[in-house]
Amino acid sequence: MIERTLVMIKPDGVERNLIGKVISIFEEKGLKVIALKKVRLSKDQAKAFYIVHKERPFYEDLTNYMSSGPIVALVLEGENAIKRVREIMGATDPKEAAEGTIRKLFAIDKEKNTVHGSDSPESAAKEIPFFFSEYELIALS
Ligand code: UDP
Repeated sequence: MIERTLVMIKPDGVERNLIGKVISIFEEKGLKVIALKKVRLSKDQAKAFYIVHKERPFYEDLTNYMSSGPIVALVLEGENAIKRVREIMGATDPKEAAEGTIRKLFAIDKEKNTVHGSDSPESAAKEIPFFFSEYELIALS
């Protein structure tokens, strides 16, 4: 099934000039970039994006971090894109991430873990419109 998923390159990835490297890894695995933008989230926007985590102990730190510098948001499209992207990213904590995954390669720690990817079709359906309007999604076919 062809799916779309929302990816963010987080502030630690942008800060360390990893935008190109991260996108290359996804492209090499066959995913297509169908939308792309660099933005800086306000604290309120970061809180809204991560609202599902509002009761978690890391919510305050996470939303401070995600609004601390620019990020790159992308929509990737491909066969089983949601699950594929999660596999390519690796586990949340880089100490637990598999060899060759983006987080194993680049993440600093469990919070500053370089990339985000939607965790389900329901999340993708909410997260893509958070950043992109319909006319910004440039499908290939
Ligand atoms: N996070 C954190 N501490 C934790 C768990 C998560 O700072 O103990 C941050 C981390 O940046 C993670 C994000 O919160 O990517 C969202 O957490 P989630 O459990 O959804 O992980 P993900 O789906 O990003 O792997």
